[in-house]
Amino acid sequence: MPKSAVEYATDQITIYRFCPYQCRYCWAWRNKLFASRIQRGRYDPLEEARKYVRIKDPRIIVVSFTSDPYPPVEKKNRLTRRVLEVLSEAKQHRILVLTKNPILALRDFTIMKKHGDMWLGTTLISVDKTELEPKAPKPSDRRLALYIAKKKGLKTWLSIEPIIPQITDPVEIIERTLDYVDYYVLGSFNYTKILGFEITEDEKKAWYRRHVPEAISLLKSYGKQFFIKKELRRYLR
Ligand code: SF4
Repeated sequence: MPKSAVEYATDQITIYRFCPYQCRYCWAWRNKLFASRIQRGRYDPLEEARKYVRIKDPRIIVVSFTSDPYPPVEKKNRLTRRVLEVLSEAKQHRILVLTKNPILALRDFTIMKKHGDMWLGTTLISVDKTELEPKAPKPSDRRLALYIAKKKGLKTWLSIEPIIPQITDPVEIIERTLDYVDYYVLGSFNYTKILGFEITEDEKKAWYRRHVPEAISLLKSYGKQFFIKKELRRYLR
């Protein structure tokens, strides 16, 4: 079973072995080594999902970390839908769907609702469109999708990651989404040099120390569930 490399989930299922969204900060696809590892992965996501139906001890499964589960081709393929249909029988696990295209994901709303603990999530690095996400659906559409999901009774979550100095203001993002997001994950910008960004460690530290404690206070004051990833926590010490 593919274990998750991140702390807030135990497992993950990669559905597509490509990602059309081309985010410039994406460690998975802009690093040749990671990209070839993902492409070489061989398991069948449907078979993987069936295994989780049989596993009794509760897991937290993310769909997906290393590629987006809702590329435009999902409209026709419906592969993610079939995986979620299988997982909808695995009620012992929490399923966290993570996509830059939650508008498309909404068509699987009934499946997510049926499970009872299947959350719809997206990523935002800014409330506005940035050139760092050239082919991803607009942040305003992502926010709208979570708003609709929440209104219709689904749990929602938001990954504010990577937090990029001069671009990502976590406080602004939280203030704009508080009404319809249940759970937040905040993470730092890693592999900066490998990805070709000229951002120093000092710049990151200064930005995180200026914005993240305020974001945490805001989340606490609204009683929101949140998770600060360990790489980001290191900058705050
Ligand atoms: S949507 Fe996710 S997997 Fe795809 S390029 Fe962007 S960050 Fe990478």
